[in-house]
Amino acid sequence: MKYGRQISSGGVLYRSAADVYEVALIKPRGGRVYALPKGLIDAGEDPEETALREVREETGMDGEIISPLGYIRYYYYSREEDTRYFKLVHFFLLRYLGGSEKDHDREVEEVVWVPAQEALGLLAYKGEKEVLARALDILNEREDEGGDGREG
Ligand code: ATP
Repeated sequence: MKYGRQISSGGVLYRSAADVYEVALIKPRGGRVYALPKGLIDAGEDPEETALREVREETGMDGEIISPLGYIRYYYYSREEDTRYFKLVHFFLLRYLGGSEKDHDREVEEVVWVPAQEALGLLAYKGEKEVLARALDILNEREDEGGDGREG
């Protein structure tokens, strides 16, 4: 068995709807679980650029960065490569600017906008749930401060 490292970056894309925030989740093709959009950082890219690019590619929608959300780490084994990967994924809070979830790429089976509380229950991985919880804390703080978190 070989060992490898991967670094990805992704986003919690949100918009406000009626009384709640909604966030965009993806279902990777062939997958059975919901996840946050993300992907490998390309050479020369910084994590912010990757988050914006991957969110655009995977969900078909554009966002602007509001805040960093830290990173998560996990290990997984790739059978095809007989490799055990250590993976680190940065995440950012992104405010929805435009575009349609219908324009998601072919690697993604489905993109859904769901109320944030529901999204907490749909996300499969503990690390991603924690990232979303952090995002909601930030949005609620912004609201308390009279920030513009609920606009647009
Ligand atoms: P990327 O989206 O960064 O291009 P990928 O789609 O190639 O990556 P991952 O999403 O990292 O790959 O999935 C690789 C393996 O790790 C899969 O078996 C997946 O179920 C698992 N995995 C994905 N995210 C997590 C997580 N947050 N915690 C634990 N395991 C995860």
